[in-house]
Order: sequence, then C-alpha cells, then structure tokens
Amino acid sequence: MGSFHLMRMSLRNLFRKPATKMYPVVPPAYTSRSKGLVSNDIKGCILCNVCPSRCPTHAITVNKQDETWTIDRFACIQCLSCVRNCPTKCLTMEPEYAKPSREKSLVTVRKPELTPEEKLAKEAAERKKAERIAQAMAAKAARDAAKAEGEGTGAEG
Ligand code: SF4
Ligand code: SF4
Repeated sequence: MGSFHLMRMSLRNLFRKPATKMYPVVPPAYTSRSKGLVSNDIKGCILCNVCPSRCPTHAITVNKQDETWTIDRFACIQCLSCVRNCPTKCLTMEPEYAKPSREKSLVTVRKPELTPEEKLAKEAAERKKAERIAQAMAAKAARDAAKAEGEGTGAEG
C-alpha cells in the first residue's frame, strides 16, 4: 500500500508544473508590495548614520569622509527599518530582487559634487548654524553667571 501510494505521488509529480520558478531566467511578477532593493536618492542623504545604526544585519555603511553610502544586497533582509527611520526619507524599498551573483554585491552611491551656487549656500548655512550655536552658548554662559551671582548674594545676605 505504501509503495503504491509513493509511486502514484511520483507519477503525479512527473506531469505537474514545477513548484519553483526559474529565477532569474523567468522574471518574477512584482507587486506594489514586493520588497527587494533598498534604494538611496543620495541627493537627499545627509550621511547621518541613522540607517546603519538601525540595520539589524549591518548591511549598510556610511563613509562621511568619502561622502558614500554602501549596501550589501545579500545581507539585507528587507526589514524596512532603514527606510522607516531615515530622517530625510531618501530611502525607498523598490519592488525588485537583487540579481543572483557569486560575489558579494556591494552597491555604493556617492554624493554628487556641489555646484558653485550650492557650495555658497552650504557655506552660508554652516556660518548661520555656527552663529546660532555661539549665540546660544553666550546666552547660557550669561544665565549661568547671573545665577551664580544671585546665589552668591543670597549666601552673603
Ligand atoms: S531593509 Fe533592513 S536589513 Fe535591509 S538594509 Fe534596511 S535595515 Fe538593513
Ligand atoms: S538615514 Fe537616510 S539620511 Fe541618514 S545616512 Fe541613512 S540614507 Fe542618509
């Protein structure tokens, strides 16, 4: 009875369509909810290092010096943590799978060179930021000094 059942199953499977797909020869049908490739619109990336710190598999690295963002496609488990936590929303999950490869497929994107106008705007923004920080520190120092003086007067009285 057992061998008859086994033979029947084997014969049936011989004429069935395979359960697996011939990826990548036969392209898969992607849906809008398919999760595959994390993509970075690098113009919006501020190299803040949030995505590497939120990635459970350490698939992402950020190099501030070289202004590059790198992802190891085969280490990514498509958990979406980086996409959800990116402060500038420059990361997206594309409905497409990584191509099979024998090598580690590291993908690196570099921030584009700034135009002269963008450079000037960036420098101006940095100067303003430095001024704001200096003003805030001066105000804090003045507050601390006033407080210390008040405490000193109170102790004498
Ligand atoms: S989707 Fe998840 S595993 Fe993939 S890079 Fe982002 S945080 Fe890492
Ligand atoms: S979290 Fe977003 S802005 Fe920050 S480094 Fe990653 S991709 Fe760039």
